[in-house]
Amino acid sequence: MEKLIVASKNKAKIAEVSAILSGIFQVVPMSEIGIDVDIEETGDTFEENALIKARYVFEKTGLAALSDDSGLAVDALGGAPGVYSARYCGRHGDDEANNSLLLKNLENVENRTARFISAVALVSGKGEYVATGSVEGTILREACGKGGFGYDPLFYSVELSKSFGVATPEEKNSVSHRARALNSLVAKLRDSGEF
Ligand code: IMP
Repeated sequence: MEKLIVASKNKAKIAEVSAILSGIFQVVPMSEIGIDVDIEETGDTFEENALIKARYVFEKTGLAALSDDSGLAVDALGGAPGVYSARYCGRHGDDEANNSLLLKNLENVENRTARFISAVALVSGKGEYVATGSVEGTILREACGKGGFGYDPLFYSVELSKSFGVATPEEKNSVSHRARALNSLVAKLRDSGEF
């Protein structure tokens, strides 16, 4: 099975990618091959940022690299936090502060529709491939459950009829933006005839 280096430091994200791609690739977190950097996300879109991260790791290692760039788009906030989801509160990766700010910004807001969006990019000697996926939901008025990561406890999935914070990993992976983007990517890889 071909090795695929995941260009991320987010353990929860890496676990989701591994669960979805195991059987197709040998998924290896970049930390296991000695890469421990915060790759700067300078793009304006999820697709651009996913490509930046995968290219960085491919150029450093020469091995096939995969990255996910993802976030939450809330309709009443004009699509925010969007590409800034990880650093909505001003600090990178402070999930608790991000969730508190989101609840504050949606105080007294009736329209709470939102979606998670993921762009995944695979960069290897065989080319560059990008795919996207999304999942619809609403933002709860308080956290529900402790599962998943990031905004999961505040995200009520229309399809699961429950929050991602109480969904099992299998339930989340059956509808998630990331799973959809990865499945679409795998279809593109198969169509290319290179994998
Ligand atoms: P990235 O690592 O730059 O792609 O940042 C993604 C950020 O978006 C995370 O830190 C979370 O805040 C949010 N996010 C993306 N996907 C999910 C998810 O599946 N559940 C909850 N939050 C997510």
